[in-house]
Amino acid sequence: MADDVVTAETGHAGGGGGDVFDVTIIGGGPTGLFAAFYAGMRQMKTKIIDSLPQLGGQLAALYPEKYIYDVGGFPRILAKDLVATMSEQALQYEPTVCLDEKVTGLTPDGDGIVTLTTDKGVHRSRTVVIAAGVGAFLPRKMDVPRVDELVGKGIQYFVTETAHLAGKRIVIVGGGDSAFDWALGLHEKAASCMLIHRSDKFRAHEDTILKVLQSPVDVRRFHELKAVHGEDRLEGVTIFDNRTGEEFYVECDSLLLNIGFLTNLGPIKEWGLEIDKNAVRVNSTMQTNLPGVYAAGDICTYVGKLKLIATGVGEAGTAANFAKTFIDPAAKAFPGHSSDMK
Ligand SMILES: Cc1cc2nc3c(=O)[nH]c(=O)nc-3n(C[C@H](O)[C@H](O)[C@H](O)COP(=O)(O)OP(=O)(O)OC[C@H]3O[C@@H](n4cnc5c(N)ncnc54)[C@H](O)[C@@H]3O)c2cc1C
Repeated sequence: MADDVVTAETGHAGGGGGDVFDVTIIGGGPTGLFAAFYAGMRQMKTKIIDSLPQLGGQLAALYPEKYIYDVGGFPRILAKDLVATMSEQALQYEPTVCLDEKVTGLTPDGDGIVTLTTDKGVHRSRTVVIAAGVGAFLPRKMDVPRVDELVGKGIQYFVTETAHLAGKRIVIVGGGDSAFDWALGLHEKAASCMLIHRSDKFRAHEDTILKVLQSPVDVRRFHELKAVHGEDRLEGVTIFDNRTGEEFYVECDSLLLNIGFLTNLGPIKEWGLEIDKNAVRVNSTMQTNLPGVYAAGDICTYVGKLKLIATGVGEAGTAANFAKTFIDPAAKAFPGHSSDMK
């Protein structure tokens, strides 16, 4: 984890405890953080549970050092800085934060309480906002001998900080956004940077592809990884041209494997929720088919759903405010204007 990635300030040992919370938010990504902020502003006793060791979801885990250009109010902001500001906003009402804790079960008890089971214990809550993103996400593994042995010794799937890559000879594998973003972000600080991809069809953003192709990054189309070399640390890789079979040895210190992620809703599929193409179906108030259970962000779906930070935070506000009316039918869903608050 990067030193400057926000970790919970109000974390506790996990495992639930006896208190019943007004709302428990599964997932501490941007959606969950904004849901926690709104729930706090609505005076709800709030808890966030996340299976990762830090807040920030995909932004902190997958691309902390990338710029984001499409969140309101920031012409551009590093993902880790957005996590920091969103965490500050979310934590001001002092929610309970349980990190490194995976929710495995969700059961509405019929007495107005939802029981959440985790790998550390049991939590009870009047409402739940599922902001679990794409579920548990794992990098797609590279099926090349000895790669696993050298992970952490020059080979990495996740890049959470970049300082150690300065001055290094870097080889990046992949043709999507992560591979191109890292090529663009790292080539200036690296001693050299090569990007290999198995075809000439790149899936990254057009603008990024163009910038990388115009940069000193050595882009090799139709090339794949054949072998990794080094005993205690990575010393080089063998790549090959998949059209001709010709092999090349490339000396390098760092190999970034950005060949995609496998996502799985895992236990969430077993909770009795209406699932549509790996997402939880919600209505216009972000309520699922289970009473008191809402979903927002990448995990939810409805007609016209866009998986973006901006839409996720909007849905989080809706979910938290309607969760308020669920536990207090006299409360209005509309929270009033925050600018009117003293
Ligand atoms: C490389 C990359 C670049 C991107 N760039 C942009 C961009 O420029 N602009 C933009 O708008 N979007 C961008 N996105 C998409 C954006 O990151 C997502 O839309 C956003 O993260 C969704 O937020 P979320 O809070 O809904 O889910 P997530 O960020 O996925 O957070 C969900 C959290 O839930 C946790 N969780 C899941 N299951 C459980 C469980 N069972 N128990 C406990 N915790 C659980 C996960 O650990 C995770 O921390 C990008 C995505 C990637 C991968």
